[in-house]
Amino acid sequence: MPPCHATLAGAQLRLPSAPAARCAVLLPLPLDRPYDYRVTADARLTPGTFVAVPLGRRIVPGVVWDGADDEAVPEERLKAVEQILDAPPLRPELRRFIDWVARYTMAPSGAVLRMAMSVPDALRPPRRVYACALSESGEAALRGDGDAKPLTPARQRVLAELADGPPRAPADLARAAGCGAGVVRGLLDLGLLRLVETPALSVVPEPDWRRPGPALAPDQAAAAHDLAGKVLTGGFGVTLLDGVTGSGKTQVYFAAIAAALERQRQALVLLPEIALGAQFLSRFAERFGAPPVLWHSDLTHAERRIGWRAVVEGRARVVVGARSALFLPFADLGLVVVDEEHDLSYKQEDGVVYHARDMAIVRARLAGIPVVLASATPSLETIVNVETGRYRRLSLPSRHAGALLPKIEALDLRRAQPERQRFLAPPLVAALAETLRAGEQALLFLNRRGYAPLTLCRACGHRLQCPNCTAWLIEHRFLGRLQCHHCGHAEGLPRYCPSCAAPGAFAACGPGVERLAEEVALRFPEARCAVMASDTLNGPRAAAQLVESVASHEIDILIGTQIVAKGHHFPMLTLVGVVDADLGLAGGDLRAAERTYQLLHQVAGRAGRAGRPGTVYLQTFLPEHPVIRALVSGDRDRFLAEEAAARRAYGMPPFGRLAALIVSAPDADGADAVAAAFARGAPQMPGLEVLGPAPAPLAVLRGRHRRRFLVKARRDVAVQPVLRDWLRRIKIPANARVQVDIDPYSFL
Ligand code: ADP
Ligand code: ZN
Repeated sequence: MPPCHATLAGAQLRLPSAPAARCAVLLPLPLDRPYDYRVTADARLTPGTFVAVPLGRRIVPGVVWDGADDEAVPEERLKAVEQILDAPPLRPELRRFIDWVARYTMAPSGAVLRMAMSVPDALRPPRRVYACALSESGEAALRGDGDAKPLTPARQRVLAELADGPPRAPADLARAAGCGAGVVRGLLDLGLLRLVETPALSVVPEPDWRRPGPALAPDQAAAAHDLAGKVLTGGFGVTLLDGVTGSGKTQVYFAAIAAALERQRQALVLLPEIALGAQFLSRFAERFGAPPVLWHSDLTHAERRIGWRAVVEGRARVVVGARSALFLPFADLGLVVVDEEHDLSYKQEDGVVYHARDMAIVRARLAGIPVVLASATPSLETIVNVETGRYRRLSLPSRHAGALLPKIEALDLRRAQPERQRFLAPPLVAALAETLRAGEQALLFLNRRGYAPLTLCRACGHRLQCPNCTAWLIEHRFLGRLQCHHCGHAEGLPRYCPSCAAPGAFAACGPGVERLAEEVALRFPEARCAVMASDTLNGPRAAAQLVESVASHEIDILIGTQIVAKGHHFPMLTLVGVVDADLGLAGGDLRAAERTYQLLHQVAGRAGRAGRPGTVYLQTFLPEHPVIRALVSGDRDRFLAEEAAARRAYGMPPFGRLAALIVSAPDADGADAVAAAFARGAPQMPGLEVLGPAPAPLAVLRGRHRRRFLVKARRDVAVQPVLRDWLRRIKIPANARVQVDIDPYSFL
């Protein structure tokens, strides 16, 4: 070191004592902070570099992190970074995002990093893949040229396959030619086939923004132009795309995606229930000539590896994914779209508890890029942000191509009673018959899986209950068993009542979708009927097939839970019957009314999307309820204004803050003891109130007894530091657990 340097820095300057330096490495494990490792001085590791480091006896991948090193561990005790991994560095805005999410949700930063590094395999250099191609002598043999020996029929087929198509892996080639692997091997040995290295697996087709989209209606075009402009100029900003169902919101934000592609940047579209997005994908491919890269929990390991790698290298131009896609390491993200922004599935409830819409906005702010939130029924949070000027709004007030919004009617079940043990009121039955006669389709919506929500003993009234949870067991007749919808416990229907031993005397109470299907089959034996619920569908492919068969009118009556509510476009569907419109209104949930409004509005929006007008019947015992009235009158904004006024009066979100603290233990006394300790140590400060402890509505879940606290604070109070301090002060026994949920959406 030159002497002048030391003089300038004065006595504080620490001279490097050895040719080694430390660097902080964050590991994708539930750890609160990075650990220090040693690197040789000449291997300068900039933050973001992926490295492999020793941890205990293992070698684990991690990321060189920013920030001050932890000097508590003396240098000579540090372990050395083992290897620098072959991947582009994790970008600074993603590192800041990970730290931000960890601080906000109070999750360990390593646990958040793990969501960004969900495919450790992708950090290894990609395996080479070989495929068989025709060699020159193979081509000659196929032509029968020269002095080549005549080919056996099997060999002939293999060569012919390659003459007509691209190079293929040996196993695929053998399968296509209908022969054994030995035939292919033989041809390789003879030199009639040659091996070529193929990048085939990792090639990501590139969407083409230059392709013309459909001609847009004037208000669509105005919104599209506006969004595209935002993307082209760049910079952070949130735009709500507020359009009625069927107004063409997707086509409009496609224009924003096209603009991101034009700028050579990446785009991310978050969708709820991605598995059901087959219709979305074909529309995307139609618009851009190539599919997007998908990211959701049903991908194979190989698909993940390829996808992650393509995202970090910037080759994946557009990613369409479920909430976890938000943590992908984009090389140059230029736009985020959150479709159906009000959807509850954006809230992740276990592991790192976060809301993907809210975190999408944070990510965009840190990256300095625009976000589009799309919905026909925006959340109250978003509407309030529009009204205070934090977000902009673009409106699409009418359906595409002159289609009308459906007519919505309440069916008062106190007057129009269904027959005994039946669940469809006479006017709805008549409307169904009429729809079938007209050659149109109907949707019956009931947000209850299984046959019946409750099964009880006729002799003694005993209710069949889950052994692990405070919940009834639900009969699933298709599967022939009883199931708990909270923990997955399943058992056969008992032969005798567990309480009074009466044989086979169980009665189903109330309807689930399966029971409704039974009633439809009895009433309309000719109608082609299908049930769509998460447990009746065997994976995303089955779901896509069912959607396809409804769209092509192979089904007359579709019976479904909430998974039918979203996004689908069925041109011949003109009647929607909501079997129990009151279902979501019970219980003290803060958002019960808002959520019911959104769900039923979405369901109603399935009717009459093409030329034919749609009708919706809401079966209800509460026709005067504000939610039912708002649905019938179509006055969404008045409903939202009333909701907002009520929340403001009680200081509830978005006008105040909430955080939940759930303590649990294997037994009730243990849970009570921990809860009591927390209650004694509860924070006391102005603007913040601690409610509880109270037994959670799901007092026992998966065998654990649960108690809840709710922290309610003014908007200007930062609750995380208060919670952190509270948690630090209470000693928690080893078998107890504490879960923190910032901005809770579930109060169970
Ligand atoms: P939303 O998401 O607002 O409910 P969609 O984007 O699903 O509406 O559009 C509804 C239907 O109308 C889709 O089948 C879509 O392809 C079609 N559509 C919307 N806008 C146009 C347009 N400008 N030209 C052609 N078809 C359109
Ligand atoms: Zn259970």
